[in-house]
Amino acid sequence: MPKISPKTAPKVGIVSLGCAKALVDSERILTRLGAEGYEVSDSYEGADVVIVNTCGFLDSARAESLEAIGEAMARNGRVVVTGCMGVDESGIRKAHPNVLAVTGPHQYEAVVRAVHEAVPPAHDPFIDLVPPEGLHLTPRHYAFLKISEGCNNSCSFCIIPDLRGKLASRPAADVLGEAERLVAAGVRELLVISQDTSAYGVDLKYAASDWRGAPVRARFADMAAALGELGAWVRLHYVYPYPHVDEVIPLMAAGKVLPYLDIPFQHAHPDVLRAMKRPADQAKVLERIAKWREICPDLAIRSTFIVGFPGETEAQFEYLLDWLEEAKLDRVGAFKYEDVKGAASNALGGQVDEDVKQDRWERLMETQRPISEARLATRIGRTIEVLIDEVDEDGATGRSKWDAPEVDGAVFVEGDGATGLQPGQIVRVEIDEADETDLWGTLVG
Ligand code: SF4
Repeated sequence: MPKISPKTAPKVGIVSLGCAKALVDSERILTRLGAEGYEVSDSYEGADVVIVNTCGFLDSARAESLEAIGEAMARNGRVVVTGCMGVDESGIRKAHPNVLAVTGPHQYEAVVRAVHEAVPPAHDPFIDLVPPEGLHLTPRHYAFLKISEGCNNSCSFCIIPDLRGKLASRPAADVLGEAERLVAAGVRELLVISQDTSAYGVDLKYAASDWRGAPVRARFADMAAALGELGAWVRLHYVYPYPHVDEVIPLMAAGKVLPYLDIPFQHAHPDVLRAMKRPADQAKVLERIAKWREICPDLAIRSTFIVGFPGETEAQFEYLLDWLEEAKLDRVGAFKYEDVKGAASNALGGQVDEDVKQDRWERLMETQRPISEARLATRIGRTIEVLIDEVDEDGATGRSKWDAPEVDGAVFVEGDGATGLQPGQIVRVEIDEADETDLWGTLVG
């Protein structure tokens, strides 16, 4: 077989839209293509073919996806579409009839086949070895770790189970093997993701698989404990408050897993939650949060909420505001309800006026702002660990254990030596200032 020089290796460009789960799909596709000798192009012009990994969750995301496909068509012209919006091939072809292929979410084989057809692989297994940890689109020092795909719930506003199917968990040894390789390759922070992280393993009946010579069950708390032994930061995302979530709090208190929970509560009023068909009993959540904080006082909780869900009354919305005042969550994001094509909630009566949604969104953010500010103010005067993300001539920017990349705040690090730090380093910083989003501090070592 002739040797392939970088000049002759086929090049793929990728545009990855949507959530972290879609990003993991993009990484898997690139890992597979990388193993076959493809190179990644960072420009449309330099690519032989461009993959657009779309998001089809909200109408606004669909519009963004169509726009991205249009841009890739205009600037390159050889485009393979995949991801959640790929289930609507006719809608995509109506707007962009000349795309080469359209495939749905996690159809890795079909994407790879389409790329092969557009530009055949020219693989030499002796020189084109993909790094064992795979190719990653996130900075080298953190990585998303997808533990399952799909979802067994049927929240009325969501079409993810239709798009991605029922819960399909990866065996524990598979996940841990990937995590181990990532850490060996220099990853300092593992971001555990899925559609419903705390349901991990239900479909496998929690079957054990062997890792490092001992069985590990495919079970949320067991997985968290095993990941906690790898020496990297472990952050848990998309955790629903099922009762067994209580089991990971002691791991957080013991410093094995980051004291951070990303729980998409979506609402607090029982009737709205019922209309949303949310999984997990949210009764007594406030009591549980108080208990969690008792066990792990450092725990940071992030959540998202939907305002203006069909039928949401002013009183139910005010109940949510009161709940937020009591829950004192660290970080909160809010969305105005939007109908999603195919979602059950579209058929619910009592659509809320756009002006009212906007007003509620603003009031929710206004209510939360001082709460987040007060939570962050408690960090002032403490010396904390910070994982450095970026360094420039003014200093370094990183994150604390309470901040996930891209969605939460930053820690701005000044002081002697700050400009000499490297991304991926974990340093100690004394915090001297805070606002409602970010922290500022001085490097102490
Ligand atoms: S838990 Fe609900 S919102 Fe989350 S993916 Fe499943 S159905 Fe959608």
